[in-house]
Amino acid sequence: MRHLLDSEHQLIYETALRLAREKLQQHVEIMEEKGVFPSAIWHDLAESGYLGVGVDAAWGGSGGDYLGAALVGQAIARVSPAIALSVGAHVNLCMHNIARNGSPALKQRYLPGLASGSLVGAMALTEPHAGSDAMGIRTRAEPTEDGYLVTGTKTFITNGPIADVLVLYAVTEPERGRHGLTAFVIETTWPGFQVIHSIDKLGMRGSPTGTLAFDRMVVPSDHVLGSPGQGSHVIMSGLDLERAYYAATAIGIMEEMLAQSLSYVQQREQFGQPLAQFQLIQEKLADMATQLDAARVLTYQVLSLAQTGERVSRLAASALLFAAESANRATNQALQIHGGYGYTKDFPIERFFRDAKLLDIGAGTNEIRRILIARELLAER
Ligand SMILES: Cc1cc2nc3c(=O)[nH]c(=O)nc-3n(C[C@H](O)[C@H](O)[C@H](O)COP(=O)(O)OP(=O)(O)OC[C@H]3O[C@@H](n4cnc5c(N)ncnc54)[C@H](O)[C@@H]3O)c2cc1C
Repeated sequence: MRHLLDSEHQLIYETALRLAREKLQQHVEIMEEKGVFPSAIWHDLAESGYLGVGVDAAWGGSGGDYLGAALVGQAIARVSPAIALSVGAHVNLCMHNIARNGSPALKQRYLPGLASGSLVGAMALTEPHAGSDAMGIRTRAEPTEDGYLVTGTKTFITNGPIADVLVLYAVTEPERGRHGLTAFVIETTWPGFQVIHSIDKLGMRGSPTGTLAFDRMVVPSDHVLGSPGQGSHVIMSGLDLERAYYAATAIGIMEEMLAQSLSYVQQREQFGQPLAQFQLIQEKLADMATQLDAARVLTYQVLSLAQTGERVSRLAASALLFAAESANRATNQALQIHGGYGYTKDFPIERFFRDAKLLDIGAGTNEIRRILIARELLAER
């Protein structure tokens, strides 16, 4: 990886990996067992500046860029993809979105708290009947004299059950279709908000996922993120960055699977020799390394391009599509390399196997990514 990153980004990655091994690893077991989010990790992450990464010091952030923020997620994913998911929802989906689209007053009000970790952030787009069809959301923000009345339900919201601040998407002008959507920043202490369900999951256990209800919540008009009616633009540009960010999470999973497999094949012997001597095992290692290298090149390029403000929709969809499918192949291959032991809870492989599956689904499924890539290709012609 060294040849792809400058020394500053390499250091960010190595420092975050050290913190993840020293401070986060110890919480993984209880997260798995109980499916709960250990609040102590929030403190450790905040202390190291990782909850404010990618946001200027002027707004209380620890500076850096999108690539640096994604590398923190990548490093954390080597220990716990679930923590990387929650950090991503806070940093990328909520905080970076407010930093990009918020008014100075919204930035002043929320960025310092989010960056210091005193506030937990989340992003609420998906609804029970509107997943892939994100533009089909029905949560209504009815304009009033001095703001909006928000009513509706959001589901699958990462950090939803513990969040203080939400980037929330709602319909302000139903007759205008995708041009009638608006993004808001809201607080979960405001009357009308309720967590109605904490969702239990196959993987990413310990990263809280919730169904949230809004019942005539009063939202002041100065809490619009961007401009009224520009919600679809905020959603789509946010999704591009989300895809690039979570591609790095997939890379972290691949790195860990390759490292653990390389170590195992040199220790485990069958037929009187280490597994590493068998060419069918070597094939798996070679495929994992090749896909990992390719995912890194594409993902880091997308993150760097996004930093310049360039539109990266197709490349970001390609990066996550490739990285997610590669991470799922890598967890499968690592499990196969570990044989029966890989199938047990004595090794962490099965946890990564379950966690990786989410990357095929969240931030628009693999099918939706392919549709988007093809649509952009055809439009380019
Ligand atoms: C753990 C977790 C965390 C999440 N975190 C968040 C979050 O923080 N915020 C948020 O807003 N959302 C979040 N999501 C929601 C996520 O983005 C959606 O689950 C995802 O977009 C898919 O929507 P759906 O689950 O409703 O599936 P559906 O849209 O119902 O899709 C079901 C299947 O049909 C396929 N399909 C749908 N339409 C088409 C089509 N046109 N052509 C071909 N195939 C199609 C899909 O690819 C999929 O395979 C999270 C989900 C999970 C599981």
